[in-house]
Amino acid sequence: MTQVNKALTAFQVPIIDVTTDEAIFEGEGWDAVVVIATSLAEIKQDEVSLLAAHASQIDFRVGKSATLLFAPGLAGGRLIISPVTDSDNEYSDVRIFAKAAREGIAIAKAAGATKPLLVVPSVTDNRFANAEQVAALACGQELWQPLEARESKSLQPSLTAIGLLNTATHSLLLNAAESGRVLARDLCGTEPERMSAIGFAQYCVDAFADSGLAVSVVDQVEQLKAQYPLLSAVGRSSFDVARHHPRVVKLEYVGEGPITKTLFFAGKGVVYDTGGADIKVAGSMAGMSRDKGGAAAVAGLMKALSILKPKGIKVIAELGLVRNSIGSDAFVTDEIITSHAGVRVRIGNTDAEGRLVLADLLSHLRLQAQTAVNPQLFSVATLTGHVVRAYGGYPALVENSAAKKQGVAATLAEVGQLWGEPFEVSRLRPEDFDKIADKNGAADVVSSNNGPSSITARGHQYPAAFLIKASGLTETELAFTHIDIAGSAVEGDPLYGKPTASPLVALLQFSN
Ligand SMILES: [Zn+2]
Repeated sequence: MTQVNKALTAFQVPIIDVTTDEAIFEGEGWDAVVVIATSLAEIKQDEVSLLAAHASQIDFRVGKSATLLFAPGLAGGRLIISPVTDSDNEYSDVRIFAKAAREGIAIAKAAGATKPLLVVPSVTDNRFANAEQVAALACGQELWQPLEARESKSLQPSLTAIGLLNTATHSLLLNAAESGRVLARDLCGTEPERMSAIGFAQYCVDAFADSGLAVSVVDQVEQLKAQYPLLSAVGRSSFDVARHHPRVVKLEYVGEGPITKTLFFAGKGVVYDTGGADIKVAGSMAGMSRDKGGAAAVAGLMKALSILKPKGIKVIAELGLVRNSIGSDAFVTDEIITSHAGVRVRIGNTDAEGRLVLADLLSHLRLQAQTAVNPQLFSVATLTGHVVRAYGGYPALVENSAAKKQGVAATLAEVGQLWGEPFEVSRLRPEDFDKIADKNGAADVVSSNNGPSSITARGHQYPAAFLIKASGLTETELAFTHIDIAGSAVEGDPLYGKPTASPLVALLQFSN
């Protein structure tokens, strides 16, 4: 086993299903009870609710904010009550349980617990149907630490396991999802030399060793240039530096039994984005090692699928890994480059590089999709500042007419809403296609306007029109949905905040 694989598996806190209420007591193997509840009245275990009720008489914070109570007789003597707030608000969604779980698990860890038991009383409100699972997944997000810190300091996870008191079996799904999320966070969040295109590809190869997935890496310069011409234009000045060369990673999952659905994912993996010749100025380049969140999320999804092994589906992914460098050989605006699909693309702005990478990947996937069973194509990318301007931290779904007829975005949005990864659905309009017409007719399409997307009207919708045209999807009836995750790939501070692996959980549930 490689060093990477050890780091990966070693850094996951496993979730264990616990089916008996006895587990809340001392001596049952757990060392803290963490209750995530909308009110103290929801707590089912008498010993816990009695303690909480008494404590709330001398400390009015109990039941209102996350608190640790001294609890003799309970696991580890620690009872943490982390209230779920705002459940009465009709606009709230299941993420209120995630928030409470993160506060509760952070207190358990700080208090010295290593094996806490999570208790999430069920509620009848359908919006919160997956509250237990979402709460457990949120603990993984809270506990993850950056790969660089783990590797340099030999960090181990602060907890050995998290118990989830429930009546169902969630651990298979949750551990598979979290394995994928650890991989995705590592790939997205790591600095650009450790996670160069070559480093990213190798990390994937190691992570998928013995996974049962078919994995291949396109690493020959001439092959990249011939088969991924737009991607290679983005990477043109990186070819001068051997360690910065681009890569394309191909992954394929085939479930057991007759295949009834085939999903195709293109992931944007711009491992560093200087903007290219349209260079990012005034400090706006910082954080651009995170421009690979789409490829990272897709890799994580494939990892989760490889563990969960859903039957009857096939999932094929291409990850475009490239550094958008600047140098004397950098591609520039006005150039016309022929895409893999044979579409002549005028470069409108070298900082709109993600759509170029995706167009070639989608063109390759298109060829496979044409003979696949019930195919649906997706692109996942930190694509535009506009989506952040339009929707804040929510990712956008932009689908073509074939996907709309199948209700792809509506279904995915519904799934995301119930699993704590909500989307906004945007609609493609004729103007989006008008916008990518080359004004003097020298090229078939122009890749973008020359202003920042955040001040461009329809700045996150029209790139989907470009993707459809430049990848050759216009010539097909294939369903295609573009997912712009620029606002959700990282939480909080975009420069230094934790990568989220969004929208891995929603895609995993959608795939299943
Ligand atoms: Zn860019």
